Amino acid sequence: MNLYHDLPIFDDENNLNVVIEVSKGMLTKYEFDKKLNAIKLDRILTTPIAFPYNYGFIPQTWNEDDKDPLDAIVISSQDLLPGVVVSCRVLGYMQVLDRGEKDDKVVCVPVGDSVVAHLQTVSDLSDQLKERFEYFMTHYKDLEQKKVEFKQWRSVKDASALIERCRKSYLKK
Ligand SMILES: [Mg+2]
Repeated sequence: MNLYHDLPIFDDENNLNVVIEVSKGMLTKYEFDKKLNAIKLDRILTTPIAFPYNYGFIPQTWNEDDKDPLDAIVISSQDLLPGVVVSCRVLGYMQVLDRGEKDDKVVCVPVGDSVVAHLQTVSDLSDQLKERFEYFMTHYKDLEQKKVEFKQWRSVKDASALIERCRKSYLKK
């Protein structure tokens, strides 16, 4: 079974499936290799700032903006391991520009994590948490001289539209 092509985008309860690539706290950037069907080491972050969230991709999606599966940030009370499939509730998305190119990140929480059950939208996130994410996003490529810009936090509705657009792009491809 290929985690990108065979895993459905939504589970039976209509929760979003996310495949974790990087655990919160890591400086190791693992990336799913669609051909190998394995999580592969992409690189060790040059800038010594660890991921403040679990990070992964959404199966059966294609983001035409950066020519990659759609990225997802998973906020959880426990760190999630690379390769794990997580059923998630979508809170919105983080609008990001990587070297001038759109590279948006869906923000979600595991439905199986009761500690984050109160989070329904990105507006429920604390300012401190949002600032940490924005800081990481805009600085984690500093030592590579690559500029990443944070634009804004977007709603659940906007995230649903983004997911739908990327699902259609996958199906077309
Ligand atoms: Mg991307």
